[in-house]
Amino acid sequence: MSDDCIFCKIASGAIPAEKVFENEHVVAFNDINPKAPVHVLVVPKAHWESLNEIPADRLDDMGHVFDAVRRIAAKQGVADDGYRVVINTNRNAGQEVFHVHVHIMGGRPMGSMG
Ligand code: AMP
Ligand code: ZN
Repeated sequence: MSDDCIFCKIASGAIPAEKVFENEHVVAFNDINPKAPVHVLVVPKAHWESLNEIPADRLDDMGHVFDAVRRIAAKQGVADDGYRVVINTNRNAGQEVFHVHVHIMGGRPMGSMG
């Protein structure tokens, strides 16, 4: 938990979000500025600034994240047609929120990775 982290505040319920999934390890909520008909962010409840910062002995957190990703994709009806999963890490990827998160985007063709 980091006091000035918006995703920690969403995880704790201190600020609202449209939550679509939650368990003891992760929380998932709709992106506030969706880039696709389905655009959900899945975050570990533990605060890691980016993928780079997760200690090797805590990578299980990302297993829980990806388990949630698959469940959410199925629940939101994009599992069969397909969806994209993105983790932006640091400057060149345009990371804006420094609490590691996975974007799930689907509901339209996502185009090439260009
Ligand atoms: P990234 O560039 O990977 O760090 O993406 C951060 C994402 O968080 C962006 O897609 C934002 O639209 C989204 N976002 C920022 N604040 C909120 C919020 N309060 N609730 C939901 N999504 C948010
Ligand atoms: Zn955080």
